[in-house]
Amino acid sequence: MDGRTKFIFVTGGVVSSIGKGITASSLGRLLKSRGLKVFMQKFDPYINVDAGTMSPRQHGEVFVTEDGGETDLDLGHYERFIDENLTKLSNITAGKIYLEVIDKERRGDYLGATIQVIPHITDAIKDKMEKAAEESDADIVIVEIGGTVGDIESLPFIEAIRQWRHDAGRANTLYIHSTLVPYLKAAKELKSKPTQHSIKELKSLGIHPDILVLRTERALDEDVKNKISLFSDVDKGAVIEARDEEIIYEAVISLKEQGLDRLVCRHFGYPDKEADIEEWTGLVERIKNTKQEVRIAVVGKYVATKDAYISLAEALRHAGFHHRVKTTLDFISTDEVDEKSLAARLAGVQGIVVPGGFGSRGAEAKILACRYARERNIPLLAICYGMHMMVAEYARNVLGLEGAASCEVDPKTPHPVIHLPPEQKEKTDLGGTLRIGRHDMLLAEGSLAREIYDGARSIGERHRHRYKLNDNYTEALIEAGLQISARNTADDVAEIVELKGHPFYLGVQYHPEYASRPNRAHPLFAAFLKKALLQE
Ligand code: GLN
Repeated sequence: MDGRTKFIFVTGGVVSSIGKGITASSLGRLLKSRGLKVFMQKFDPYINVDAGTMSPRQHGEVFVTEDGGETDLDLGHYERFIDENLTKLSNITAGKIYLEVIDKERRGDYLGATIQVIPHITDAIKDKMEKAAEESDADIVIVEIGGTVGDIESLPFIEAIRQWRHDAGRANTLYIHSTLVPYLKAAKELKSKPTQHSIKELKSLGIHPDILVLRTERALDEDVKNKISLFSDVDKGAVIEARDEEIIYEAVISLKEQGLDRLVCRHFGYPDKEADIEEWTGLVERIKNTKQEVRIAVVGKYVATKDAYISLAEALRHAGFHHRVKTTLDFISTDEVDEKSLAARLAGVQGIVVPGGFGSRGAEAKILACRYARERNIPLLAICYGMHMMVAEYARNVLGLEGAASCEVDPKTPHPVIHLPPEQKEKTDLGGTLRIGRHDMLLAEGSLAREIYDGARSIGERHRHRYKLNDNYTEALIEAGLQISARNTADDVAEIVELKGHPFYLGVQYHPEYASRPNRAHPLFAAFLKKALLQE
């Protein structure tokens, strides 16, 4: 390591889901607003090689990077906050590290040495951090360690970041520990004990935190701060509070007010200048002051899981920020509706989104949603699997092809309007075999799609799928009014379909939601919401 790149390590204690990803991303935004180049990395201690095969029910959404990484959803927060495209190097699991080390061992690269957690696994982890610094050329890399300190799986990662300070020096590393300070209603008191224990645990692993970020639902009084500062031996000024925020993007402002970025920059010896977050404060003000509402239904399979559609929900909100309206989302579970109840739920919504998905469950409800939107002229945005259902619906009900379906849903369908391309058929593994990441496409002249993308001839978007439109049916579909408004430049896959004469009926093979940013709504969502706003 050349020492130019500084590293900030963010660990978590007490319980998971206390928003250390938001803390890390907010800090990233603050440092970027000081003119520093920031890159972010998340180490996940689970044994899965990547997040690709993990169930959204258990783990929330899989976020996809431009270069085709299937990653933890925290990467979505990182990209949305720091407004930079991250890469596969930004999300490393224990599984990936072990797999690499074992592969090397099998190849004989270690020349007969005994392979151990220290140094082989820890070296492999440090190697990923070094690569992140090298490839991003960042001034600062923020590394978040998933899970909570004390978990068995995270030990090698904690050890690797401990060694990093030993190797790179104190001036080039900073440790932030994020914990929960619970409020006990019965005692009417904030409790610092779990935090004290967690810091003790961290210290027993050789890491002394420089900054504490304490998640709390109530303001931390001076007593609590003093106590935590005393017991943990962290300066009182470095004990920062992270309150529950109504709008997550507000965290940036509150952390700045408490001087988090100042503390970090002083530690690294950067000049003391103010972070320019005017655009960000403007954004938060705008969000707070919107009155008009737009009601959008999302008809999906995993709606009961809070984070399964997080990028989609954020993208729809961002489009709201753009138009200065509040996007109200009505998540409708495909498991709980039939034709009648779905129509009742959809009555009164101004736009419908049919999101991506895998497997056969929920297909029919999605097809019904597409039909409802088509027949009643309600704006529809159908994404990936949603687009597949949109095409199947059109084939069935407009072309009269009974039983038309995606082969994923009905492998024996007489009309496989969506199918598996031959090169995909040979792949039997579920992990790492998708058509994934950024692919470029040409937008057809005169199409709504091209208008939405500001007249651009070609664009690139992120993908995550196996199945695609079967071109044996395109002629018939086009004749019946469903246009193909974009095709891939390399493999000619149909990327966008749209219905002429409908206010907004658009299906995309890719996932625009991953590229949306709070301060830069994705054009597709912005255009969709604009049309939705015209609905009564
Ligand atoms: N399951 C479909 C496919 O693999 C769609 C995937 C998705 O919606 N992301 O093609």
